[in-house]
This record gives sequence, C-alpha cells and structure tokens, in this order.
Amino acid sequence: MIWNPEFECMPREQIAALQFERLKRILEYVWAHAPAQKLKLSQAGVEPGDVKSLEDMARLPFTTKADFTDNYPYGLLAVPKREAVRMHGTSGTTGKPSVSFYTRGDMEIWSELITRLASAVGVTADDVVQISFGYGLFTGGFGLHQGMEKIGALVIPLSSGNTERQLMMWEDMRVTVMISTPSYALYLGETVRDMGVRDRLKLRVGLFGGEGCTPEMRAQIEETLGITATNNYGLCEVMGPGVSGECELRDGLHIAEDHFYPEIINPETGQVLPVGEQGELVLTTLTKEAVPVIRYRTRDITRLVSEKCACGRTHMRMLPTLGRSDDMLIIKGVNVFPSQIESVLIGLKLPAVGPHYLLYVRHERTDTLELQVELLDAGVLESFSELDNIRNTIQDKLRSILGLTCKVTLVEPRTIQRFQGKASRVVDLREK
Ligand code: ZN
Repeated sequence: MIWNPEFECMPREQIAALQFERLKRILEYVWAHAPAQKLKLSQAGVEPGDVKSLEDMARLPFTTKADFTDNYPYGLLAVPKREAVRMHGTSGTTGKPSVSFYTRGDMEIWSELITRLASAVGVTADDVVQISFGYGLFTGGFGLHQGMEKIGALVIPLSSGNTERQLMMWEDMRVTVMISTPSYALYLGETVRDMGVRDRLKLRVGLFGGEGCTPEMRAQIEETLGITATNNYGLCEVMGPGVSGECELRDGLHIAEDHFYPEIINPETGQVLPVGEQGELVLTTLTKEAVPVIRYRTRDITRLVSEKCACGRTHMRMLPTLGRSDDMLIIKGVNVFPSQIESVLIGLKLPAVGPHYLLYVRHERTDTLELQVELLDAGVLESFSELDNIRNTIQDKLRSILGLTCKVTLVEPRTIQRFQGKASRVVDLREK
C-alpha cells in the first residue's frame, strides 16, 4: 500500500519544482534564523538569492559531522528552545556527541516518513510490532515507534538485548512485525533455529536499519525467521530512519524527495556526480525546522537510480549502501568494504559455516588480512580435510571478488561476539 500517493507518486517534473521551491524557502529560513548555518553560507560567498536552480546547490558549502560537534549543544538550533520537543544524537567516538532537535512539525513529518515504509510492507492497525532497537538518543527506537503508532499498530517497545525475552514476547504477544538492526536479526534468527521455536511464531515482516544489510544477509534472516524483510535508511543529523526505505519490490530504497534533496559526490574532490554514478550521498533537508541542514555529507557510499519503480512511486532510489566511506579499508591499494566479505560468506551457503566473522588487518612488511569465521558445528573441527576444504573455498571466492589473498581461520561455534546494535567486525591493527 502507498501511504501518501500525492507525494510519493508525484511526477518527476513536479518533484523537481517542489524541491526547488522548498530549497529556496529553507535557505531564506536558514539566513533568517540559523546563525551558524548562515555564517557558513556567507563565508562561502553565497546568499539565498544566488541559488536560481537546483544545479546551483553545488555552490553551497557542505555540512559535516564536525559542524555538529563544533556547535554542540544548541548552536545549530534555528527555533527558540521552547519550540523544540525532542533531542536525539549519536555518540561521538571522542568528545561530545553530535545532537539534533525536532519541533512538533518535524515530529509529524518524521512519523509520516515511517508510515510510508511500514505501509509498503502492509503494516496496519492489525499488526503487533516489537521494536528491538535501543531506545535512547539513537534515533532507531523512538523514530520507528511513533510512526508505527501513527498507523495504529500495537507497539511493544522492548528495546535491544535479552534475547530470550525477545523470543518470549514474539511468541506470547503473537508479534507480526519485528524491527532491529540486521546484525541483531541474524542473531535472533540463529537463536530461533537453535531452540526450534519458529513454528510457534507469527512473525510476517521485518524492518531493518541502523546499518547496511547485504542481499545475502537479508536472505539468511528471511529464511531463519520466515519473514519478508525490508531495509530503511536514515541518520540522526538529517532526521533518523525514514529518509529512505524499500518498497515491496525491494529494488533500492526510495528517498523521501519531498523532504530531502539527495546528491552524489566524489568523496575525494567534493564534485557532484551524474545520477547513476557511485559516490558519497549528500542530503539537504527541505522542510526541517529545528535544525535545517544544507548538504550534509553522510559518508555513505551508494548510487542513485532515477528510473521509475514498478511500484508506482516516483521518488529516486538509492542502492543499499556499500558501507560508510569511513569503514572502507584500503588494503594494498584495494578498496574493501566489510559488507563484501559478508556477502561472500553468506553467499557461499556452506552448511558448516555461519554468518559471524571478524576481520583482522595487520601490517607485517605489507598489509595482511585475516578472516576469522565461526563454524556452526564443532564436529567439523575433527576432520582436517573438511576444514581445509572450507578454508580454501572461502579463500578462493574472496580472491576472485576482492583480488586479495586473505588468511582464513575457522573458529569454534559461538566464540565470535554477537551484536545487538550495529555490528563492528573489523579490527584494524595497523599503526595510523
Ligand atoms: Zn518502488
């Protein structure tokens, strides 16, 4: 079902006109109400009146995560504090977090964005939705929560962690929709399989976000839990989940173009790339009141698809992110994303091997990669020939995909850490 056909199926020319009109309005708004954002514009020598078409966006300066931390706590707020009703943020690895705020109007729009992705997989007031995202500053929990309530579904705010309780609630409350990171879903699915309780569950649909999900990982989650899974995407600095999401056809994530203007740039040079080329996603908020953001550099690498989707929605799609440009490893000059390793591992469908791994990068004269992969069945450890076989299969596939030789180590079942939020599977031991 399409929640808001008027906007989601708007003809492309009308979308462009709407975006331009909203862009002009947001620039005037920033100029009048957001001193920190205005300063950046004037330092770059541009005024709102200089933007005469969407192409002129390229003249505007980027906003980065540093702008959020530099202006912590309230420096980016464009409304009086009494008009802000919510704060979210992401933990910085060092120092202050980057925080963002929402007015009542922002909250309305955010809820609508969630209803769009939930409607696409048929979520209705008849559903029981369990949210297994952490509730807190992270936008995942509360973000999905309010949209699901808007639809009228019964929402269980269980938060992440306590796997047995997750499964108990699924069963007892006859939960039909699950929401979590793909890594946690993978782990929950594994537990369902080990406990043999799948037949007792009523799960039908899963909505996943907070980190990338490869097609192979999705297939594995769907198989172990017996659900249809869709991916959604968002980030706290521009809104949270709902910036984009898959429709029922699951062929790219439709970006809510009536609220965000997407660009793809070359992450090295900052040049805007033509639609269809791969690069870093940059987003401008077109309607956000509390913290309007011009050209936010997401660090996420993706590609835009402008062809009309068979679902009827006209909003451009972004392909699932390959990973953050910050997560990209450069090994002997080759770009490697952890998501590629995951695809290989799950895609090989080796019965003895699970989806859990850790990737160690070391520097010993030259860069080396060691992939630790967890076995599903400890019995395999007794057969040297079988272990060799598995190791070689993984190694060969990685060599053909990445063009790199990678040492593969097989480890005992349940020895690699599980993640209840975003997974962190790379250990880079090289000196910076
Ligand atoms: Zn579609």
